[in-house]
Amino acid sequence: MHTPHTTPRLKLSNELSIPMLGLGVWKAEDGNEVKNAVTWALEAGYRSIDTAAVYGNEEGVGAAINTSAVPRSDIFLTTKIWNQGLRNDSVEAAFEASLQRLNQDYVDLLLIHWPVAGQYKAAWKHFERFYDQGRAKAIGVSNFMPEHLEDLIESANIKPMLNQIEFHPYLQQKPTVDLCHEAGILVEAWSPLMQGSMEDPVLSALAKKYAKSNAQIILRWDIQKEVITIPKSTNQGRIQENVNIFDFELSAEDMVAIDALERDHRFGPDPYTFTF
Ligand code: NDP
Repeated sequence: MHTPHTTPRLKLSNELSIPMLGLGVWKAEDGNEVKNAVTWALEAGYRSIDTAAVYGNEEGVGAAINTSAVPRSDIFLTTKIWNQGLRNDSVEAAFEASLQRLNQDYVDLLLIHWPVAGQYKAAWKHFERFYDQGRAKAIGVSNFMPEHLEDLIESANIKPMLNQIEFHPYLQQKPTVDLCHEAGILVEAWSPLMQGSMEDPVLSALAKKYAKSNAQIILRWDIQKEVITIPKSTNQGRIQENVNIFDFELSAEDMVAIDALERDHRFGPDPYTFTF
């Protein structure tokens, strides 16, 4: 049986701790779908929820958190500022609107969603202020490649504490992960389950060997690689399945077998060429 205490946590550079597994809610509809997913996740022992302004479901996420029996202080809530806010220089208004939709005084982690060229450094100045004000307990970035990180760090007073990137067996982004780990920036995997496309023979063989599902094998691999993971599901059974990964360990050899699945395959946009 999973309890919140079973989920390992990592420390951000400011000593705040973040659960290594959370619930992603991209494509979960605002209203009952997202409210149920967050409620089931909290009941199943999740203590971290990852949303974004652009997902259009911050209201439902906030409502589920606020009506839960789990104290707010036990929940790690992440949201992200969308690209338009960076382009219009309306980061402050965008963050205030997110807090209002979430019905929260603060978020635990605020991320720059994409590295909008020519804009992310100015946005980061706002982020540093939100952090100083305590409205964001931690600040970080998403989809930042090594060049973006180096460029941002050059002019930052506070180094990003976390980088959320596409990461799964088919796209492991080793240069970015290595740079982050060397710089004390935690790495968080988006689309860890390859958006549901997990029918890989190596994963299936490991699933059989450990009597787990392909999803659980991948999520366990994330944990053992020190990568925080945020699988999305709106299905109660799969929400429970995805958190049930702390009662087994992949051998070093099996970790290497999953590493060998790397094929530079993106399910999402490329941070160097995105056009939105
Ligand atoms: P995931 O890789 O988490 O895959 C989600 C898909 O897998 C859904 O179709 C889900 O269906 C299915 N699924 C979930 N669990 C299982 C299971 N145990 N067995 C079989 N199928 C399963 O995709 P996401 O793209 O949603 O990524 C996760 C999260 O990362 C997002 O929700 C979001 O929070 C974040 N993200 C961030 C991005 C960024 O730019 N920063 C970009 C993309 C995502 P079902 O719901 O029916 O269970």
